[in-house]
Amino acid sequence: MERKNAWKKYSDEDKNNVFTFADEYKTFISECKTERECVKKAVELAKKAGYRDLQEIIAANETLKAGDKVYAVNMKKAIVLFNIGSEPISTGMNILGAHIDSPRLDIKQNPMYEDSDLVLLDTHYYGGIKKYQWVTLPLALHGVIAKNDGTIVDVCIGEDENDPVVGISDLLIHLSADQLDKKAAKVIEGENLDVTLGNMPLFGEEKDAVKANVLKLLKEKYDFEEEDFMSAEIEIVPAGKARDLGLDRSMVAGYGHDDRICAYTSLLALLETESSKKTSVVLLVDKEEVGSIGATGMQSRFFENAVAELMDRVGEYSELKLRRALANSKMLSSDVTAAFDPNYAGAYEKKNSAFFGKGLAFAKYTGARGKSGCNDANAEFVAWLRNVMDENDVAYQMAELGKVDQGGGGTIAYILAEYGMEVIDCGVALQNMHAPWEVASKVDIYETMRGYKAFLMAE
Ligand code: MN
Ligand code: MN
Repeated sequence: MERKNAWKKYSDEDKNNVFTFADEYKTFISECKTERECVKKAVELAKKAGYRDLQEIIAANETLKAGDKVYAVNMKKAIVLFNIGSEPISTGMNILGAHIDSPRLDIKQNPMYEDSDLVLLDTHYYGGIKKYQWVTLPLALHGVIAKNDGTIVDVCIGEDENDPVVGISDLLIHLSADQLDKKAAKVIEGENLDVTLGNMPLFGEEKDAVKANVLKLLKEKYDFEEEDFMSAEIEIVPAGKARDLGLDRSMVAGYGHDDRICAYTSLLALLETESSKKTSVVLLVDKEEVGSIGATGMQSRFFENAVAELMDRVGEYSELKLRRALANSKMLSSDVTAAFDPNYAGAYEKKNSAFFGKGLAFAKYTGARGKSGCNDANAEFVAWLRNVMDENDVAYQMAELGKVDQGGGGTIAYILAEYGMEVIDCGVALQNMHAPWEVASKVDIYETMRGYKAFLMAE
């Protein structure tokens, strides 16, 4: 079952569209490196496309009808957007769900210390990372400081060309005889991912003078006291913008493709959808990389509550109708998968791998060790999707993440499936997944957006 390389089907004009869309996407992931930044940008784009805040509509006791567009934000870290269709919501929605958290380093609550005239920040990594990939890179600080007087201070250091960056040291090769004998998982240990912040003492200070100097700078710029680390959420991420990869510029190297690549394509697919029969939904959630737990993860009741509020506004709410709406829905769990990599061919089973250039990748099931933890999409639903994709000339492929018993992974799919709706995993294939710089094919990004659009319009 050979799937065609999607580049081959394009006219010059199509190719221009692919490159333009990739440029817009690069801007998005270069600017949005935390879940909070993604939500802020999503709200901005949604408002421009005529979406209104569901909370404001509830507060004003307004009603909603087919064709109305609304969004609801959850604790600044997750968002759901609805484009109300002409059919009752209880007949089911077409839902695209992606996550906007990405692997990174979080700073601890008591992180700052001075040693040997260096000031460092202690971190605890977030999500599954190969720790050795995060050293000797320019890193940036993104996040918020919540001060105890109620003010929230946004922090972003390391992205402007004139900004300083921070970084994590590694041992020089000349002294690495012991280190290089260790297993890769132990070469860099979690407690060695401390970030270097400074080396210059504050004049006139005796003890911890370098730390005093850095704290003085933070005080001047952010009115920041050391105690404010207790209520800060600062994420350490790779510094710098996403870039074209390849002499032919066919790919994008960027931080956080997993899963902002599916979040952005889902969001744009929705914002460009005008009227549809089914209510179209995009759900962008937090905490997928650590099990979808908590109030901002997929396991929270936020989505279900937002659907209930929406149905109430269109005069359609009852507990039974809410359950019907969820059970009758169809969902694409929009998340990345692994692209075949000739450097590591042995980790893949080639017939069932996703490849760069072959479009939106569907995974009937994910999971590990006999598909444990997977969502297994029904054959009937897959057939329905094949039809939708074929009718809209979307390039797509069926893929499994790696060869049997090599590892595996999960997504938010199984959580939505608990409502009894049809769910399948699908998204963009990546190389270097979870590395500081992940790689995707531009044509896959574009075809994924087209596939998501076709799905939202499908009946
Ligand atoms: Mn993911
Ligand atoms: Mn992931």
